[in-house]
Amino acid sequence: MNPTSITYPSGAVTSTGTVVHVTEAGDGRTAVVLDATAFHPVDTAWPDQPADRGTLRAGGRVFEVVDAVVGASDGGELLLGPDVPVRTGTEGWTFVVAHLIEGEAPLVGADAAVDVDADHRAALSAGHTACHLASLALDTALADAWRKEVPADALGAPAFDALAISESRILPDASRDVYRIGKSLRRKGFDPAALDDLPGLAARVNARLAEWVAAGGAVHIEVEGPALADRRTWVCELPGAQARIPCGGTHLASLAELETVSVAFALTPVEGGIELVMTTTATRR
Ligand SMILES: [Zn+2]
Repeated sequence: MNPTSITYPSGAVTSTGTVVHVTEAGDGRTAVVLDATAFHPVDTAWPDQPADRGTLRAGGRVFEVVDAVVGASDGGELLLGPDVPVRTGTEGWTFVVAHLIEGEAPLVGADAAVDVDADHRAALSAGHTACHLASLALDTALADAWRKEVPADALGAPAFDALAISESRILPDASRDVYRIGKSLRRKGFDPAALDDLPGLAARVNARLAEWVAAGGAVHIEVEGPALADRRTWVCELPGAQARIPCGGTHLASLAELETVSVAFALTPVEGGIELVMTTTATRR
């Protein structure tokens, strides 16, 4: 099996190809692998952006794609989603997009066409772009909270987002990031007192986001190759800086497509520390 060529990083929502593999996926579902697809699957190890919605046409029939996951093989059988034991990109494995459908499966060799729900995709792309902007604005707003040297983010600020994130979910025109502030982050030099004034923190983050959105910088995904496992980087022009973040998701082509991006925070005590939830909301023009 060859790795799936993916076209969604360039923004594609339709693609044509050939059915190259079909396998049972449990629950009456069938996984259909194409040589090329515009369909964004959910990643297993870091499931931030959910799968696209849309249809697959093959063998003269139209199937609703009920889910899309990453499939992987080390030469043996194709493993799907949670059954894949390695991170996407692991040496020695081939990674594919598995389109999950219900009903009688198309035959290997059939011509196939993929149609992604473009409105849903656009909303997820806005949510994902906003998520990256908010994480950078948050890092900058918390830069003074660090008492020790730590790795820097894409703009040179201490990388609170990367060091504290425990979960990130991209939603239509929104995102939800969960940060864990416990013993390990405090040991790295983070002072949780920086979170005492959450409305003040939100105001600082939102002011930065408004400035970036107003500047309307270009966004693109830099790709090292067409395969699912090839490295991809989100590249965004911001006033006086270019931000680069490794990212497997989909994005807007420009911040000018956004009207507003804003965040809200909530703190919850958890065992051994606190959890900060950042909810980011985007509106499009
Ligand atoms: Zn991303």
